[in-house]
Amino acid sequence: MIRQAVIMAGGLGSRFGDRTQEMPKGFIEIDGMPMVERSIKKLIAAGIEKIVIGTGHCNEWYDNLAKQYPCIVTVKNEDFKNTSSMGTLAVCAPFITDDCYILESDLLYDAVGLFVLENDTRKNVILASGATQSEDEVYLATDDSSILTKVSKNKSDVTEVAGELVGISKISYELLQQMVQFYNSHPDAKKIDYEKVLEQLASKDTPIYVRKIEHYVWTEIDDEAMLKRAVTQIYPHIQENESLRNVKREVLLNPGPSTTSDSVKYAQVIADICPRELEFGNLMEDVATELTSFVADPKDYVTVMFGCSGTGADEAMVSSCLPPNGKLLVVDNGSYGARLAKIAAVYKEDFEVFKSSTYEPIDIAALEKEFKTGKYTTFAIVYHETTTGLLNPLETICPLAKKYGLTTIVDAVSAYGGMPMDLEKLGIDFMTCTSNKHIGGMAGIGFVICKKQELLKQKDWPMRNYYLNLYDQYEYFLKTKQTRFTPPVQTLYALKQAIIETKQETIEKRFERFTECWNILVSALKDIGLKMLVKEEYQSHFITAILNPETPKYNFEDLHDYARNFGFTIYPGKLGNINTFRIANMGDIVPEEMKRFCTILKEYMHSIGVC
Ligand SMILES: *Cc1c(COP(=O)(O)O)cnc(C)c1O
Repeated sequence: MIRQAVIMAGGLGSRFGDRTQEMPKGFIEIDGMPMVERSIKKLIAAGIEKIVIGTGHCNEWYDNLAKQYPCIVTVKNEDFKNTSSMGTLAVCAPFITDDCYILESDLLYDAVGLFVLENDTRKNVILASGATQSEDEVYLATDDSSILTKVSKNKSDVTEVAGELVGISKISYELLQQMVQFYNSHPDAKKIDYEKVLEQLASKDTPIYVRKIEHYVWTEIDDEAMLKRAVTQIYPHIQENESLRNVKREVLLNPGPSTTSDSVKYAQVIADICPRELEFGNLMEDVATELTSFVADPKDYVTVMFGCSGTGADEAMVSSCLPPNGKLLVVDNGSYGARLAKIAAVYKEDFEVFKSSTYEPIDIAALEKEFKTGKYTTFAIVYHETTTGLLNPLETICPLAKKYGLTTIVDAVSAYGGMPMDLEKLGIDFMTCTSNKHIGGMAGIGFVICKKQELLKQKDWPMRNYYLNLYDQYEYFLKTKQTRFTPPVQTLYALKQAIIETKQETIEKRFERFTECWNILVSALKDIGLKMLVKEEYQSHFITAILNPETPKYNFEDLHDYARNFGFTIYPGKLGNINTFRIANMGDIVPEEMKRFCTILKEYMHSIGVC
């Protein structure tokens, strides 16, 4: 898959006159967004994780943009006044390490062009369209095998037009090197355009193909007339085309799986691949390293993945991490803590349960007393109790457990990816997570992030489990770059895309977005007069347990069905004899949507006389 792109943005854009005197052309806005930024969003949605922008004129605009997009690297073409697009491409090339897309900066295009290039099995492909009548056409000619033979702005130079150059091409790493070599060895051709270099290099031995989409919707924007045409004709057409490909929006306010972006959904639609191919092994290795990097240094920690739900990861951890003759202490302050204890019981492990309130903070002094007994080797706790929205203060509890020499194993399934954390500082040795909660992927991958030094101790322990054995899964992958059993292939591609999007947003900002949604919910609850189970200061901001209103007219199913009609899915929450319903803000949810949900909640509560 193509994961890197170059945007050539060094030019002066002089045909715009005053407008581009102090601003690069790519920053001209269409519908409130600079055209280059729209292009960047499309590239990210298509799975691009590194975008090198070659700048020149007013480069600081791009440098500022790079601050908002961690995937952007800017490189300045110092000689931009005396060179052209090829000069800019040449300064970008050293930052590219793989096959890539190269794009012009002043393009408005339908994202489908990127998918067509991606799916084309040929290595070097220039995207072309039918006639645009734009009056700034670059015509392409080809031989019988669609290999580029001629590039010209002059129609009379081209006997038979094969298509018009769009300004988006797929280029192999090798071809990019050849282009740079050609450029460096022709100092007389300083002002050459990249497409002319492609023309020079294209041959039977170095085939560069032209791929035409006859009715492709796109435009370059070089002057005011083109801008006007872009705004009135091209942009609405692209919007319509792209919206036809949108998946119906459902906002999941249940505690996982959570709402995913369309780009994550589409990332699953890929060519079939045998998971034993090296290419797939590299993908898994990369995904695992990225998952680790969000919370720890991959030198010291490693992520071990299984095809399973979050509970599968919990089961792998609990059944693998207790040493022979060891003893486990499990905190139970909600259904998920109880689940860890249940797993230990099923595997006939030696364990004891530390019970604590489901909505009040843990009594840390009492817990320390338990640590002090010296009975235990291992300590298990849930980071965020999804049952109630109670966040356990692991920053105090785990270092305390470490102080008494315990190995710490943590269920962070509904915390990981939603809030910044540092496993080394937290004193966490093993931690479980899933692909489908805060990280924003599809359900199907459970993983355990392990402190290597602790994991290696398990090498010679007798196995209590088979499919879920943590050390075996780790060692086999290390040796072979394959999982022992069939992994959920498509789900891994979706997870890769979810990681790209998480890195783009950053976990800090994601936590802020969830907090903003939670604040909207909390203030609506107060307005309606509904009570929360957990005090605000102990809540995670990821899930809110709300006490059912007292009136007998309240019925969860009615509320659920009412909200579902508007595209919102909510979830009940039963805790012994306390009846609640739960609203999660996880995944690809925006504050606007939480506001809309709150209006719906209020309407329902009003209809039963609560407010
Ligand atoms: C969601 C969740 C799990 C796992 O649930 P699955 O349905 O197995 O994916 C485990 N622990 C916690 C705290 C959770 O929130």
